[in-house]
Amino acid sequence: MLLHYGAKTIPEGGYYSMPRLFADGLLLIGDSAGFLNSQRLKGIHMAIKSGMMAAETIFEALKKDDFSAGVLKGMQDRFESSWAKNELYKVRNFHAGFDGGLFAGMMNAGLQMITGGRGFIDGKETKPDHAHMMPLKEYVARHGDENTRRTLKFDNNYLFDKLTDVYHSATKHEEDQPSHLVIADFDICNNQCAEEYGNPCQYFCPAQVYEMVDDEDCPGKKKLQLTPSNCVHCKTCDIADPYQIINWVTPEGGGGPNYTNC
Ligand code: SF4
Repeated sequence: MLLHYGAKTIPEGGYYSMPRLFADGLLLIGDSAGFLNSQRLKGIHMAIKSGMMAAETIFEALKKDDFSAGVLKGMQDRFESSWAKNELYKVRNFHAGFDGGLFAGMMNAGLQMITGGRGFIDGKETKPDHAHMMPLKEYVARHGDENTRRTLKFDNNYLFDKLTDVYHSATKHEEDQPSHLVIADFDICNNQCAEEYGNPCQYFCPAQVYEMVDDEDCPGKKKLQLTPSNCVHCKTCDIADPYQIINWVTPEGGGGPNYTNC
């Protein structure tokens, strides 16, 4: 039985993909700074710890009445000397190890246990997530036919269709607000992406926000149609879009999924 639904991307890049934690008037904590043990897929303890370190740093800034990067750098220093850094450093190469495939990743995961987190290569440079999207031509060359792409079968028993999921997320947005999903160039979606990648947004979005519908102005052609009010704020589109032209911005009025935690 489906009680509630939610979806979210997680920052699984690990220690080497974490940004600088401070700037003038700014501290980054939790997922926004990549505080996640990507091997164990656990991040709540990290989020709490990052919040504590931020609170201590802000207290220090309040006492000095100085919120410049020079003082807020204390956040970085606290992190680098904390158990949180030690925990993340031990699994720093876990995900990069899977860049070479499942078996290479499994061997690397085993090796890192006895090499203090080093594994085969320390700090291997990897591609951003969207660069892993395979163009249709390459897929067809490998598999013979684009119709062999794996599609999900929703039985509404174990796997529920996307609109049922959206209903169970209790997501809500003001209907007449500007779209919080800003597409920089619809021409790329309707033409270039349709040909090169087959509009993957319609598949990876878990809330049926993106659909390719018949274009009334151009019979025989499809165009991208958005339903932003369905969005469950997972941010997959912002990350996985192969052209990086989808920009997720904060919606007006605090709209979004309503997680009840029960
Ligand atoms: Fe996630 Fe983007 Fe779909 Fe919203 S529109 S549910 S952020 S993939």
